[in-house]
Amino acid sequence: MTVENLWDRLADMTASSGMKCGRSAECHAECCRPSFTGGEPGVTPAEIELINSFLATHKGFRFYEAGEEACKFLGKNGKCRIYTVRPIDCRVHFCKEDSMESQINSEVSNLVEDYHARHKALFMATELIDSCRFSGED
Ligand code: SF4
Ligand code: SF4
Repeated sequence: MTVENLWDRLADMTASSGMKCGRSAECHAECCRPSFTGGEPGVTPAEIELINSFLATHKGFRFYEAGEEACKFLGKNGKCRIYTVRPIDCRVHFCKEDSMESQINSEVSNLVEDYHARHKALFMATELIDSCRFSGED
């Protein structure tokens, strides 16, 4: 299974299980602000490649548009600017009623864990978004 196939399966599974982002007027995309959550999403080598391919078609991409305190891919409008190629970590985090507590879905977790295990060589060296330098970034 490619990482894109995994994204499709995760999208189907999260949709059919009713997992969804509880974004409301009160939410300011806190999940994309490590300074707020104290953590940041991981990104794997396969995902780094896909993000770099996306960035190659977006010359002049402005990193940290929402400021240094936010994920480097967050836009000023609170939306992910690499949404189509965002990492798995971002795809499986959905707040529970805006509490920032992630909804748990064991089927989804098992699928991700299984994928990681079967792509050990390529996929286990997970880096964090902030510490990784992407194509076009100084
Ligand atoms: S996952 Fe949570 S913090 Fe992130 S946009 Fe949705 S409601 Fe807001
Ligand atoms: S990659 Fe996108 S969805 Fe993930 S934390 Fe950054 S801005 Fe948010």
